[in-house]
Amino acid sequence: MKKVMVIGAGQMGSGIAQVCAQAGYAVLLNDINEDSYDKGIQVITKNLARNVEKGRMTEEEKEAILGRISKSLDLQDAENVDIVIEAAVENMSIKRSIFSKLDEIAPAHAILASNTSSLPITEIAAATNRPEKVIGMHFMNPVPVMQLVEIIRGLATADEVYEAVEAMTRKLSKTPVEVNDFPGFVANRVLMPMINEAIYTLYEGVATEEAIDEVMKLGMNHPMGPLQLADFIGLDTCLYIMETLYEGFGDSKYRPCPLLRKYVKAGWLGKKAGRGFYVYS
Ligand code: NAD
Repeated sequence: MKKVMVIGAGQMGSGIAQVCAQAGYAVLLNDINEDSYDKGIQVITKNLARNVEKGRMTEEEKEAILGRISKSLDLQDAENVDIVIEAAVENMSIKRSIFSKLDEIAPAHAILASNTSSLPITEIAAATNRPEKVIGMHFMNPVPVMQLVEIIRGLATADEVYEAVEAMTRKLSKTPVEVNDFPGFVANRVLMPMINEAIYTLYEGVATEEAIDEVMKLGMNHPMGPLQLADFIGLDTCLYIMETLYEGFGDSKYRPCPLLRKYVKAGWLGKKAGRGFYVYS
């Protein structure tokens, strides 16, 4: 695999494009919105500049990495890539529409991966005529820093596709962990109900935002409190994931907290929107 297309230049897509370019892949970074692409490139440039300042790479290396990333505003650019990693919004109908278009455009050998946090890979794969080449590649946020990639096998994912993606993950200097296709996989099946419960404790007036986060940081040794983490993930993404768990298991223990819904409706989407449980300048 040499050529990678990353779809979505947001928090996750820009990080995935950065680590792929750092590992030597030619990367096409695609977004439907040119402003989002520009923002994504700015974030990558800033991250790399910090690495230069800290002596972790040279200015020439930084320029070479940026030179491996090209702009794409049209899915048609997938016509000669070897793998697509989709990191658009967490919404099944948008992902199915992207995958069905990619299936028409990308070469027959190309692997189609999704960075979905929780949506069934098998259902995304069913929007294509190559379900054996569809797989989940769930990076963690922030991508350049976090070690883990959950690799999710859909019902039809071929062994050689799993092996190719596992090898690519190692080439990105990440650690792959194999999981099966159930709502939320492992990471968000465990993490998101904890965040949702933290939001319930705020909603019910058990404690303030700061107190809830302090309890979990000092008491459980978590590096970040659950409300701050929710702001970093994006409250819209948290809500999508809770909805997926709720629908997928049909179990009321996964019902999203009404306060989470309210914040998302208000546009308080967390750090990326400047306001969530906390205010960001
Ligand atoms: P984001 O809102 O920061 O970025 C999404 C980007 O996708 C935006 O730039 C948007 O313009 C673009 N986009 C939307 N529709 C598109 C389309 N049809 N074609 C091309 N681009 C399109 O979101 P994010 O936090 O980067 O999340 C992206 C995906 O990664 C989601 O599936 C999410 O669940 C998953 N994910 C998120 C996290 C996290 O912590 N935020 C962690 C792991 C996985």
